[in-house]
Amino acid sequence: MEFKTIFEPFRIHSVEPLRLSTPEERENALKSAGYNVFGLRAVDVMIDLLTDSGTGAMSRDQWAAIQHGDESYAGSPSWELFRDSVKSLFPFKHVIPTHQGRAAEKILFSVLGGEGKFIPNNTHFDTTRANIEFTKATAVDLVIPEGRDPQSRHPFKGNMDIVALEAFIAEHGAANIPVVMITVTNNSGGGQPVSLENIRQVSAVCKKNGLILFLDACRYAENAWFIREREAGQSGRDVADIVREMASYADGMTISAKKDPMGNIGGWLALNDDNIAQEARNLLILTEGFTTYGGLAGRDLEALAVGIGESVSHDYLQYRIRSTAYLGNALAEGGIPVVQPIGGHAVYLDARALLPHIPPLEYPGQALAIALYQMGGVRGCEIGTVMFGMQPDGSEKAAAMDLVRLAIPRRTYTQSHIDYVIEVCLAVRELAPKLAGYRIIEQPKLLRHFTAQFAPL
Ligand SMILES: *Cc1c(COP(=O)(O)O)cnc(C)c1O
Repeated sequence: MEFKTIFEPFRIHSVEPLRLSTPEERENALKSAGYNVFGLRAVDVMIDLLTDSGTGAMSRDQWAAIQHGDESYAGSPSWELFRDSVKSLFPFKHVIPTHQGRAAEKILFSVLGGEGKFIPNNTHFDTTRANIEFTKATAVDLVIPEGRDPQSRHPFKGNMDIVALEAFIAEHGAANIPVVMITVTNNSGGGQPVSLENIRQVSAVCKKNGLILFLDACRYAENAWFIREREAGQSGRDVADIVREMASYADGMTISAKKDPMGNIGGWLALNDDNIAQEARNLLILTEGFTTYGGLAGRDLEALAVGIGESVSHDYLQYRIRSTAYLGNALAEGGIPVVQPIGGHAVYLDARALLPHIPPLEYPGQALAIALYQMGGVRGCEIGTVMFGMQPDGSEKAAAMDLVRLAIPRRTYTQSHIDYVIEVCLAVRELAPKLAGYRIIEQPKLLRHFTAQFAPL
């Protein structure tokens, strides 16, 4: 018997109170935040879907492991546990701990980047792109065309376009490409997975051209679950085994441990090449810390060692992917346009389609994000013209899409919380024709979405 209710494979052990707020309180909070959800105080948010990064709930066993933390500067047993746990899924020769994913990226691209270099990816995450561009190298996105179409139902919309990759290597020369990357799942492309076959093909192209391949592996477990569910011949497999096969095609990885590894903080860089590892460790010592703790406390290493094991549990992943799909499918059935198919860690609402009367330069994504907060204290994040519309010359243009992302923290909210979010979204849909756009009254030069101030039109 397949039951309809999503069975959360845990019971609640320690509770964190959520404060209910009134529409008046939320209106005041919005005014003082300049109508920017990043300016809200977290205590004024009822359901926080701003990001899934570091916002998950740690397990009983992770909290217990924290008490085992050994804070020795060098050679701590907590480091050994962490290293071995990483290697159980990603058997790379060198493991280098960092405080977040972007620190691993910063170190890797300081070694491999530089002017005249090109680094292809299916889609670079924003910190990855920024760290590459900071070295004056060029970050290139080569996702398959279906990956750019919100309504395409391709099962692996995160796949790299192999033909485009080969053409790119032929055009720019293997000597100018220090590394090829694949992001699993493709976060910036809607949390869409990459197939094993695609990783294998990219790996073959890299080998043929003498290039190394790295995974940006933040959501390795969700990606492996999608492979198990959707890829021919994979349905009976252990997810840990699929992750190891993904890793076997790569020469290294960067990762944020704030995603699938169930940490509130952490990251690592892992790789096989001795020379790159040597240079990376020198930089690590300069900016993060000694090689056996990176930017982390011993207790963080302990919590991650346990979290990595929990991340590949089938009961957990079934619940995880089903609960994201549950939200996405309910919204789609309720007439709210969402990016399809539903990704692993988030649901993306198509604000431009829901609010066709608000032109992109009046920020329909912003209008929708604000309306969700006003209606029910739900915080999502605009991913559209506010985030991407500012041009280097100071002019503005519409982004490719105007979306609102509802990211789901791991093991944090229950099905009733999600039912509440669905009700809030449907209530906002009723009001949609009456919602108005926004104008920006103050903004910084870079990354304006974090701090811009808005006024309703
Ligand atoms: C979050 C994320 C990063 C950066 O990690 P931080 O821990 O936030 O620095 C890199 N790549 C992807 C795909 C991510 O989702």
